[in-house]
Amino acid sequence: MSSPVAETAHLRCEACGRLALHAVQYAGRLVVSTQCGSCGSIVARDPAEARAEYLRDLEHRLQSKPARVLKRALSDPKAFLTTLPRKVAMQPTKLAREWRALLAASRTRGEKPPTTPGHH
Ligand SMILES: [Zn+2]
Repeated sequence: MSSPVAETAHLRCEACGRLALHAVQYAGRLVVSTQCGSCGSIVARDPAEARAEYLRDLEHRLQSKPARVLKRALSDPKAFLTTLPRKVAMQPTKLAREWRALLAASRTRGEKPPTTPGHH
């Protein structure tokens, strides 16, 4: 329903080497993946790295706002990740959309998105 956050940019494709219009996926200000408009190949950031960067970026964005719950969560990213869906449900849809974009990028790498660790 809600379209992912995407923009286009002319980039050199790593796969076909052409300068082509790429669809660029963002989570916040962070680029998570690019898709070549010429050959269709998707280049995604390392999901773990992208998530870590996104959380760092989110922290900066939250510094201008009193969001103590989220800021505390950022000091414990693992717990933050596992509790995110519920938190996101209470956040503006923007955050949820950004997070979905990150997870979608993770899937393009054939890796599972972070899930509840379960028992340990
Ligand atoms: Zn290409």
